[in-house]
Amino acid sequence: MATQRILDFLATRRPNGPCLVVDLDVVRDNFRAFEKALPDSRIYYAVKANPAPEILRLLTAMGSSFDTASVVEVEMAMDAGAPAERISFGNTIKKERDIARAYQLGIRLYAVDCVEEVEKIARVAPGSRVFCRVLTDGEGAEWPLSRKFGCVPAMAVDVLRHAKGLGLEAYGVSFHVGSQQIDLSAWDRALGDAKKVFATLAEEGIVLKMVNMGGGFPTRYLKDVPAAQAYGQAIFSALRKHFGNALPETIIEPGRGMVGNAGVIKSEVVLISKKADNDNVRWVFLDIGKFGGLAETMDEAIRYPLVTRHDGSETAPCVLAGPTCDSADVMYEKTPYPLPLSLTIGDEVLIEGTGAYTTTYSAVAFNGFEPLRSYVI
Ligand SMILES: *Cc1c(COP(=O)(O)O)cnc(C)c1O
Repeated sequence: MATQRILDFLATRRPNGPCLVVDLDVVRDNFRAFEKALPDSRIYYAVKANPAPEILRLLTAMGSSFDTASVVEVEMAMDAGAPAERISFGNTIKKERDIARAYQLGIRLYAVDCVEEVEKIARVAPGSRVFCRVLTDGEGAEWPLSRKFGCVPAMAVDVLRHAKGLGLEAYGVSFHVGSQQIDLSAWDRALGDAKKVFATLAEEGIVLKMVNMGGGFPTRYLKDVPAAQAYGQAIFSALRKHFGNALPETIIEPGRGMVGNAGVIKSEVVLISKKADNDNVRWVFLDIGKFGGLAETMDEAIRYPLVTRHDGSETAPCVLAGPTCDSADVMYEKTPYPLPLSLTIGDEVLIEGTGAYTTTYSAVAFNGFEPLRSYVI
């Protein structure tokens, strides 16, 4: 949300054009809240949510580990001071030469979800630890991750057995319950599946050690979300329920929940118009849209809180759109967004909860608009 530090920064620096401002104090508080909520889990920050060097350096200093998806993300975490032992290569889709490069850099922990990927790792990252990702239904998530990643639990058994056979360490199971997950019981279902894989392999003498419980922890947008503590309690009781006293090592990989509420985008109204004189819906065009960093407005999945200097006055429904010449660059139309009638061209609009998944989604220069600038304070 717009902290006083962010508001002061914008008031004194008056940056031109749309930009993201991230308050590191909020990231620090979020990290501590995760540590407190799940004291026995290691935190692997999902670098893709916001790889700003200041954020990675802060989290490294606080003892965080990092979930990365490419060699460049591995290098970003290392540049921030993270040792290789604190970095996992968590993408299930990797080129063999990228695995080889990560291995050279010292990375020994890899995600897989099929035997084909296991074979790549066995060839170029011998002896490494692998964890197999299982599918989840994504139910309850506002940004579900679909069937792209993971396999069914029965197949995970084959994948990990194969890994062991090729001299890798069959280390554990991972899942991701879907991003912006507000159903606390989602982890219970996924942990039940993880336990099945543990139990089947144990019968064969293959003892898994770790469950990677992924991300999914939410940011507050327009609606309240449960606090980190509530997630911690729900997850801990699900772990107890399925694993009893033989609790595995656990990892969490928060992305959105670590940085989402730490950032605010400052934007400006470029145009307000109607499509016909008798329309009651106004079109409000901002200087940022889907291609400038707000890609998660796709299908109107994420609805960001908007703040203007006219808040509190009478509102009317608005279609919200970006400045590019692409007709897909419309953010809220199916469910128009109520904005003050007194909002005018040139007004500033603050878009809250934008610390995650914005700078990384911004196009390089579509229509000549520069990539989303970011200030980390
Ligand atoms: C993106 C991602 C995360 C972070 O998810 P959030 O919902 O932002 O917390 C964690 N783990 C993996 C493997 C991911 O791809």
